[in-house]
Amino acid sequence: MAEPQKHTPLGSLGEFGLIEHLTKEFDLINPSSLIGVGDDAAVIDNSNKRTVVTTDLLAEGIHFDLMYTPLRHLGYKSVVVNLSDIYAMNAQPKQITVSIAASSKITVEALDELYAGIKLACRNYKVDLIGGDTTSSLSGLIISITAIGVAEENELVYRSGAKEGDLICVSGDLGAAYLGLQLLEREKRIYMEHPGVQPELENAQYLIERQLKPEARRDVVAWFKEMDLKPTAMIDLSDGLSSDVRHICKQSGVGCEINESMVPISEDAYNMALQFNIDPITCALSGGEDYELLFTIQPEDETKIAGEDAFSIVGQITEKEGGCVLVTKSGNRHPLKAQGWNHFE
Ligand code: ADP
Ligand code: MG
Repeated sequence: MAEPQKHTPLGSLGEFGLIEHLTKEFDLINPSSLIGVGDDAAVIDNSNKRTVVTTDLLAEGIHFDLMYTPLRHLGYKSVVVNLSDIYAMNAQPKQITVSIAASSKITVEALDELYAGIKLACRNYKVDLIGGDTTSSLSGLIISITAIGVAEENELVYRSGAKEGDLICVSGDLGAAYLGLQLLEREKRIYMEHPGVQPELENAQYLIERQLKPEARRDVVAWFKEMDLKPTAMIDLSDGLSSDVRHICKQSGVGCEINESMVPISEDAYNMALQFNIDPITCALSGGEDYELLFTIQPEDETKIAGEDAFSIVGQITEKEGGCVLVTKSGNRHPLKAQGWNHFE
């Protein structure tokens, strides 16, 4: 991370000066964003479409550690995790609001870094910053982002639509973000004990990137449209496959079988898990923060997914009475636990 050179206290600009400073280079690009920053409220024209809204609150020390999280990455990730929730509804994000509570140790230059990340995410995902709130904090940095999206009524995909016999699919690969976090935490501990030691993060680029600079799967939602494929249920993978698939099952009133051998794990994640003495499948099932999409499709849509590298079919929806089950490589059946499933139990 490039250290901010200047250390301008937040108070020096005044509240309105600061808001103006942080938001002046954000241009509105979506026609639906009628009024953005500057009035009492933003105005959005979604004509007769459905509007979807989601919020996340991130608190320093709980959700992020500024010791190893560059503010630019933090800004980017804070936006992306919200957009991921909009895509998980099979909708398109259009606007965000950003609310900040900053302690006195945060400078104008630090917020500039945060907003540079926010801006990059806005540009990459074509969303408009249309408002927010700014205040001070006595307990570290707090960021709350709200994302607003649109979809036609018949496009929306809920957690509640999975039916017995549907195939359970995931995009990308799982567990890498969790291992990236373990690596950063390990290097932080080493640094705290021996400040002179350089962090050993070579060969870990993919894992670190998955933790610090995740992307939301806009491409997957675009692909659904192109293929005329509507998942029966969908959720984004923020907590880990075991926990998130259970949300779909609960809301849909069904059970599921997940096949361990079909869960996608990258080679980097696999090798790093072994280095940490953790079972790779545990990382993939319980790690979290992958921001991939977990969705179910009707069996007749399998041909649309088959042969696509971006997706893995990891299991099937069963009747509710079966519960949520993990079928191991050796064919044993275990209840799929929401947290910390231990391969060697
Ligand atoms: P109010 O006092 O009515 O809450 P503010 O002075 O907080 O208004 O906000 C003025 C304008 O600046 C509003 O459009 C608001 O949405 C926007 N805004 C405030 N803080 C931020 C921020 N951190 N990021 C983006 N926009 C902001
Ligand atoms: Mg305000």
